[in-house]
Amino acid sequence: MKKERIYLCLAHMSGREMEFIKEAFDTNWVVPMGPNVTAFEHDLEAFVNKREDKAPLDKKVVCLSAGTAAVHLALIACGVKPGDEVLVQSFTFCASSHPITYLGATPVFIDSERESWNMDPELLEAAIKDRIEKTGKKPKAIIPVALYGMPYQIDKIMEIANRYEIPVIEDGAEGFGSMYNGQALGTFGEYGVLSFNGNKMITTSGGGALICPDEDKAREILWYATQARESYPYYQHEAIGYNYRMSNICAGIGRGQMTVVDEHIAHHKRVQALYCELLKDVKGISMHQNPGPEYDSNFWLCAATLDSELKIKGQENAYNAVVTGAVGGAAGVTHAVSTAVTDCQPNANVEALRVALDAANVEARPLWKPMHKQPVYRNAPAYTNGVSEELFATGICLPAGPYVTEDDVRYIVDVIKNNIE
Ligand SMILES: *Cc1c(COP(=O)(O)O)cnc(C)c1O
Repeated sequence: MKKERIYLCLAHMSGREMEFIKEAFDTNWVVPMGPNVTAFEHDLEAFVNKREDKAPLDKKVVCLSAGTAAVHLALIACGVKPGDEVLVQSFTFCASSHPITYLGATPVFIDSERESWNMDPELLEAAIKDRIEKTGKKPKAIIPVALYGMPYQIDKIMEIANRYEIPVIEDGAEGFGSMYNGQALGTFGEYGVLSFNGNKMITTSGGGALICPDEDKAREILWYATQARESYPYYQHEAIGYNYRMSNICAGIGRGQMTVVDEHIAHHKRVQALYCELLKDVKGISMHQNPGPEYDSNFWLCAATLDSELKIKGQENAYNAVVTGAVGGAAGVTHAVSTAVTDCQPNANVEALRVALDAANVEARPLWKPMHKQPVYRNAPAYTNGVSEELFATGICLPAGPYVTEDDVRYIVDVIKNNIE
């Protein structure tokens, strides 16, 4: 039994963060702008613009207070207005779709394909045609999501998006450092969303960024992020803006994190490879892997699926008790629930394995519940093929990240094996 709990993914400091924060205090830049923000933006630009065997790109990055804010502002920049529709991957965290509703627009959910688990290009095109037929209008944007860091089929998605002339907002919040054909996620579409929340690939304690196609678009995003002011000597407003800029203190953490990002990503990949190696002969469990040579996932989280026939000890008792508090230590509070089950949930063997890992002091979590199965989106249109629902029923996220040692992975795999009946 481990004395120290093994968490899904914890922020890990490089040791240099305090230097940059101290600099902010020493120079009195304790505000939502300043030298750390500018320097962090440059670091991010250098990181996302580099390409294998090709000249670097020239994308601009604007640092914001959260990845959710980045999604919100990208939608505004794509002209999303009340009554519009936006096509978004259903298999995602709620922050991909919630900002669509902030704008009074409607998310239209697109299911996943089996290889990457991300947006199915065929369903995407079918949805575009059907929305145009049903509403007489084109959807305003397309949001594919790099779930657990895995790249989406961006070449196919971009081909469709270009043909219908619909801008793509890449949600790379979980995919910082993931590449497709040697190019960073977030740089293929019109905009790319990054998140630096406490549990993401790198952290600024809380924060995000938007990758923009050029200087003009970046300035427009920055303008919206700083309350949309006109240049008069007094406050003059001709559009609604937001207070979404990143603080100079947070950016100092980000600069420190950038000194170790390559090492962090390499570690996530090592951990994933070790899970694959140790679980390869275990019948009924499969690790999510890069589906082809064009994919290079950061493996932010390591995900596995369990065959429904696989028997896990105690699965007959799964879901017998109402869960109190948030599974996986989600930030903030959760509403108390009165039932132990919903009409769409992970299979009993997955829940039993989560409970067994928890008892062994290992945090595991079900895959994200598809948005088209969320009660709050019951009225949103959805184009489905059953893939994300099946993955949600059978999948589980295992710990990854800089704090998870190779010994930890061996321990976790032993716990899994010991709980197979
Ligand atoms: C974390 C996350 C976001 C939002 O980022 P925050 O910085 O937490 O606001 C958006 N999309 C996905 C898929 C995420 O996982």
